[in-house]
Amino acid sequence: MKILRSLTDLKKWLLENPNPHFVPTMGALHEGHLSLVSAAKNKEKSVLASVFVNPRQFAPHQDFNRYPRDEKKDSELLKNVGTDAVFFPSEQEIYSNKCPLPSLSLPPVFGELEGKIRPTHFLGVAEVLFRFFQLTEAAKVFFGQKDFQQTVLVRWLLETHFPKIALEVCPIIREQNGLARSSRNEYLTPEQREAAQILSQTLFSLQEEFQKGERNPRVLEAKMHQNLSRESAIKMIDYAEIRNAKTLEKMENFDEVAVALIAARFGEVRLLDNILLK
Ligand code: AMP
Repeated sequence: MKILRSLTDLKKWLLENPNPHFVPTMGALHEGHLSLVSAAKNKEKSVLASVFVNPRQFAPHQDFNRYPRDEKKDSELLKNVGTDAVFFPSEQEIYSNKCPLPSLSLPPVFGELEGKIRPTHFLGVAEVLFRFFQLTEAAKVFFGQKDFQQTVLVRWLLETHFPKIALEVCPIIREQNGLARSSRNEYLTPEQREAAQILSQTLFSLQEEFQKGERNPRVLEAKMHQNLSRESAIKMIDYAEIRNAKTLEKMENFDEVAVALIAARFGEVRLLDNILLK
């Protein structure tokens, strides 16, 4: 596996591996990330991963400085799953004045849900992905359903600026107790980790209710809140909502595929989870 540390390294590698399959990450890799690499592997295309903790998607008070970083371990894990190259760019090269980013104007839905709690987050994500997509000219990019609103943002970014790039959204990888794998799980105490299974339990029982025939989104949302508020380890429910899976708009009925989204805080740690209702 090639380790690329500069734009020069990347450009040289791309000459021999044009239009790769691309998996962007912020490192602290786990099985969730590695499942994206596995999905990206095929005979025709090389797989490029990136590891970059993007300062622009963290608000000043957020966990940018303490976000876990372990280049050696990440490289080892990526190599073991057959990644062809990993790009560890510097902040200077990604946000170089020589190559200014366009001013991106995101649709209003990115000011809701995660965007309401973290107002600058999605612009930061869109900017770094714009740069990565521009640099790599990937044939296809791979993202996890785990960050559902982010997948909707990526689809918007591709449709508006990179129509030649395809998107594959990969299923959520979970721990044995159902907790969605996340780099932030490392911050949880053993008790919080145990308690955090309430998120997936709530979503799975919601899906059961839906499959049994409950079709009132407000009733289903109330059930999610009821279930979550029984867990005393949850300091705050940021949201527990049902939205249109394509547009993320609120829904009054289930004419289109819906997604149930939860964000909740266990102490200082915010955890996200979601499930498609179909
Ligand atoms: P991050 O490093 O948190 O920016 O995540 C990089 C990519 O891995 C994103 O597309 C995430 O949605 C994806 N990812 C993170 N956790 C999981 C998971 N548990 N299952 C599947 N994909 C995941």
